[in-house]
Amino acid sequence: MGKRTSENVLLDTALKNFYGAAEELGLEDGLIEILGNSERKMSVSIPVVMDDGSTRVFNGYRVQHSSAIGPAKGGIRFHPDVCLEECEALAMLMTWKCSLAGIPYGGGKGGVECNPLEMSKGEKERVARTFAARIEPVVGAWSDVPAPDVNTGGQEMVWFMDTISKMRGRLEPAIFTGKPVSLWGSQGRTEATGLGVATCALELLKVLEKDPKKTTFTIQGFGNVGTYAALTLVDAGAKVIGISDITGAYYCKDGIDINKAFQHISEHPQRLLDGYKQPGLEKIDAEELLFLDTDVFIPAALEGAVNKNNADKVKARYIVEAANGPITPEADAVLDAKGILIVPDFLANSGGVIGSYFEWAQNLGGYFWTREEYNSRLLHIMKGNFQRVWEFSQERKVKMRRGAFMTAIARVADAVRMRGVFL
Ligand code: GLU
Repeated sequence: MGKRTSENVLLDTALKNFYGAAEELGLEDGLIEILGNSERKMSVSIPVVMDDGSTRVFNGYRVQHSSAIGPAKGGIRFHPDVCLEECEALAMLMTWKCSLAGIPYGGGKGGVECNPLEMSKGEKERVARTFAARIEPVVGAWSDVPAPDVNTGGQEMVWFMDTISKMRGRLEPAIFTGKPVSLWGSQGRTEATGLGVATCALELLKVLEKDPKKTTFTIQGFGNVGTYAALTLVDAGAKVIGISDITGAYYCKDGIDINKAFQHISEHPQRLLDGYKQPGLEKIDAEELLFLDTDVFIPAALEGAVNKNNADKVKARYIVEAANGPITPEADAVLDAKGILIVPDFLANSGGVIGSYFEWAQNLGGYFWTREEYNSRLLHIMKGNFQRVWEFSQERKVKMRRGAFMTAIARVADAVRMRGVFL
């Protein structure tokens, strides 16, 4: 088979990143070939009776990239752009994310090609349940453990869990993570990704010997990840001078009152910043946020937000990637030439899947932890992981992204070597 390329940009980038790091590690050809492919790629069709009585058939996918270390782990997204190649790229990234995080999982990803914004709750439920029934043969607490991703959350996880539990005639809570606290979910899971992102940013300041109280931040995206990252940073004394969402960017040189902004979105029907006011606040164009003079920029919105059209105007000194793939490879090269240090996504946003691991462990044990236990274990793991990648990158004189890939791939490669090639 040899090395693969893909027409799909995300998959091609994932493969290039993998092959580059694998070569630098000196991995054997056979291993490179094994890990450059996915163990299982499942495509399903999902017939659903819509509210108007018509029947539509949706495409759904579940990819398991690797189970060398443990069950495949990764989210399921509902989005019009979902396709098999995208799921494969994201599944591979999950393998590296879980490996780097030091949690006992491989990587998986899935999705349904649909637009949930145009669907009623009943239609979404029927899509979710039929999709769960279709992937039932391949999911399980010890084989493949899905979670929320773009446009899915606690409600979808409960529909999935309920469908599989009824098909199997027993409760199966540990198959899905990201469930509501009232239904086998975990205290702390909602804040986990944002808390992890902020922890990475604060660890970065620590190794650079910079004082958080004298550091400015801008955050693109004020959803679940952006808000909890911002709240944690201001708690540490940092100044967040700019935030944004789809309604625009909001800038205040003396610092945004993050608690007030959080209160504002909590009361807004669509959880948006629209109409947010405080003294000295200026509303600017959404993209202008990227060009503000700031110490740390946190892209917490969509993939490809920093690209070849805007990268040269980015003024931050450091970037901590909260979204998956917020910087395109072309932009990465431009930022690198400008000397901007980047903490890569699969290190910075791994708080979510580490939190999922805690939920799974609690479900298997049937014993729940307190929020304090959850947060202190999360902080401990995130800090250790950041330090490990930082030290490795310093020693090998590589960028943090390359160092993170090398650390993650080496651990999976060891597992494949020890388990041997059988299936
Ligand atoms: N979808 C999240 C991610 O990309 C969480 C995955 C999980 O918890 O399994 O990391």
